[in-house]
Amino acid sequence: MSSALITGITGQDGSYLAEQLHSRGIDVHALVRAESSAQEQSVAEWVTLHEGDLLSPESLRRAVVDSAPDYVFNLAGISSVAQSWKEPELTSRVTGLAVGSMLEAAWTLQESSGKPVRFVQASSSEIFGAAVEVPQNESTPIHPVSPYGAAKAYAHHLVGVYRSRGLFAATGILYNHESPRRPEAFVTRKITAGVAQIAAGTSSELLLGNLDAQRDWGWAPDYVDALVRIVEADVADDFVIATGESHTVREFVGAAFTAAGITDWQHLVAVDERFNRPVDAPLMRGDSTKIRETLGWKPTKRFDEIVSAMVNHDLELLSS
Ligand code: NAP
Repeated sequence: MSSALITGITGQDGSYLAEQLHSRGIDVHALVRAESSAQEQSVAEWVTLHEGDLLSPESLRRAVVDSAPDYVFNLAGISSVAQSWKEPELTSRVTGLAVGSMLEAAWTLQESSGKPVRFVQASSSEIFGAAVEVPQNESTPIHPVSPYGAAKAYAHHLVGVYRSRGLFAATGILYNHESPRRPEAFVTRKITAGVAQIAAGTSSELLLGNLDAQRDWGWAPDYVDALVRIVEADVADDFVIATGESHTVREFVGAAFTAAGITDWQHLVAVDERFNRPVDAPLMRGDSTKIRETLGWKPTKRFDEIVSAMVNHDLELLSS
């Protein structure tokens, strides 16, 4: 039986990834923080837990040694661009430096056990930042515009370094992906939860930042499926994971109100400058030709379906 170690299992993607791996008969291990509030509610009993923190290299090394995995999926980190502007130093350590500790632990295990270890890093479209081309692909120059993007860019390069060294080290360059499991700290879930509240009559206004930013939004379970294909690929490589369609935040808001049955919504939305970022990537759209052609991946849900699924979930939460 193959085994996998996941970091970030209490997050949106980690939860879907654990379910996918378990359904394929893979023995799932996870690194979790002692203080993780979500830990007890959300992690299934078939997961073997290893206590650790990205801020403690020794705890990462111990989790890798104790789980002795065939696959390592490194999903943990500060994943919010907005939070990275508030805590740039912590973001550098957790989202950037810690990836070096994880890679070194995987490499050392491979060397000492003689058993190959495959490492997949959750990289991000934010490494392209103020992208010099649209759509972006695996060859687009890296040009981050936020502390989060810079930390992810450093981690992305380190994965390439360990690949050259002889580790199966790959990345999924993930564009934004959503689901009902997205926390409300992210704008998409803030929108769907806010729209559901307005539809239910418990709120009268949605306050947002920049409505003109354009993002390429996909369905989280599809993106996790891509990470599994990447770990099982013949060759370790970088793969853009994206739908190839971009929409403005304003369009996301419109689709959410439509899903809730509200057609006249403009007066219900106000822009609050406090939610604007110091610098924002204006237009993200990914070209995922490589993973489609090499690994047979494709997205299964379209933009409107993703927004509807999230709004319907938030409406159900309010009514239950
Ligand atoms: P998420 O929901 O924010 O989950 C983040 C995870 O990281 C949580 O399990 C959290 O655990 C863990 N974590 C944070 N700090 C930690 C620390 N110091 N030590 C150990 N664990 C820590 O993120 P996600 O949306 O699932 O994203 C997964 C990965 O994909 C992230 O690396 C993200 O940057 C990347 N990515 C995501 C998107 C997207 O649209 N979702 C796009 C591009 C890239 P606690 O429960 O302990 O807080």
